[in-house]
Amino acid sequence: MADSGADIELEAFRAEAAAWIAANFPASLKGQGALASLEVTAATGDLKAWRKGIGAKGWATPTWPAEYGGGGLSPQQARVLGQEMAKAGAFNPLMFGMGVTMIGPTIMDYGTEAQKQQHLPPIIRGDVQWCVGYSEPNAGSDLASLQTKAVDAGDHWVINGQKTWTSGAQYSDWCGCLVRTDFSAKKHDGISFLLIDMHQPGIETRPIALIAGASPFCETFLTDATAPKDALLGQLNVGWTVGKRLLQHERASQTGASGGGRVIPPLSDVAKAYVGVDDKGRLADTDLRARLARHMMDAKVHGLTLARAMAEAKGSNNPGNAASVLKNSATNVAQTRSELSLEIFGHQGLGWQGEAFTTDEIETVRGWLGGKAMSIYGGSSEIQNNIISKRILGLPDTTQSS
Ligand SMILES: Cc1cc2nc3c(=O)[nH]c(=O)nc-3n(C[C@H](O)[C@H](O)[C@H](O)COP(=O)(O)OP(=O)(O)OC[C@H]3O[C@@H](n4cnc5c(N)ncnc54)[C@H](O)[C@@H]3O)c2cc1C
Repeated sequence: MADSGADIELEAFRAEAAAWIAANFPASLKGQGALASLEVTAATGDLKAWRKGIGAKGWATPTWPAEYGGGGLSPQQARVLGQEMAKAGAFNPLMFGMGVTMIGPTIMDYGTEAQKQQHLPPIIRGDVQWCVGYSEPNAGSDLASLQTKAVDAGDHWVINGQKTWTSGAQYSDWCGCLVRTDFSAKKHDGISFLLIDMHQPGIETRPIALIAGASPFCETFLTDATAPKDALLGQLNVGWTVGKRLLQHERASQTGASGGGRVIPPLSDVAKAYVGVDDKGRLADTDLRARLARHMMDAKVHGLTLARAMAEAKGSNNPGNAASVLKNSATNVAQTRSELSLEIFGHQGLGWQGEAFTTDEIETVRGWLGGKAMSIYGGSSEIQNNIISKRILGLPDTTQSS
């Protein structure tokens, strides 16, 4: 059967994408996808050039509107672009940034035209870093209990309070922040969403040192911090709705849809190399073989369900409550893979550093530890289960969760 016009156009785009990647992606970065998680300010040399190049082309945000500098591609073209990037060992250097994964999509949903003009182009170019100020010392899963307050001071807001676990706050230029603007209303009804400039004296970030030395997040103190009146995203006291939408975008970005950093070999190959094979060439340990097969089936089912959900969404910007299902299944698949990997490595799966361990072994151990957070951030797995039961299955509401 002859190719349709759409197929021919898509193949022409494939050739265009491949040629652009060949001309612009630095060979030194091939297979270095993990670098995408670096902060904006930490990107130097070829990585900085790659961020700048793909940002200017709009292809780090391929389906975002061209009028703000986005790629303006169809979902099909974006998929082809992703395939060509993977083929070339290239990666999207902005894929983990909160501007791209959460704030930008929420501004597209709720922002005024002026807010879109101000904030979307720098996010698309990768020029700015955003953080998300939701959690507080007494408001995590029960987020609606947040107490950070914003007071109307005539021509601007004055904000006081404390946020915590604010990822990357110490490097951020802007913060998407939930604040209480009405203390007399029911707790979900007195919240607003502010876009706050982090470069001001009223904001102090204190990095929280983890046991391994890194400080990926901060306590963030707001003391008479200010924001202009037009920094309100969505309507006054309707911030809960805006905030929930951002969380849906966050969960959608944690489903594995954006692809990962490093190329991961099939776990069955790794297992055979470490554990050995029987006389039929099968993994020698039958119990491990059964658990590995179950994990690989789960991973396949997750991938297929994700592809179906994306096809059904037909490029819609609203991830909806299904993001909770996919976030939980992505978490299960990733955490199970880590557990199995460590078991397969045996004593080689205890390495933190040193020449006795390969890079893969060390990265797997670190990934196993880091992956524990997947079932906490973006709303814990239990909270996702509450959302699934309430919003998808229609079961009675017995919790305070969103
Ligand atoms: C790596 C990482 C990065 C983060 N980044 C950010 C960030 O950038 N910005 C930000 O604002 N926050 C961030 N957070 C905070 C995160 O959103 C919270 O940790 C999370 O919402 C859980 O809140 P909590 O820690 O207060 O735990 P709690 O709410 O105290 O929960 C403790 C336990 O109780 C369970 N639980 C609580 N309520 C219920 C319920 N109703 N039903 C069933 N079980 C329940 C939870 O599932 C959990 O197991 C980050 C967290 C991590 C780990």
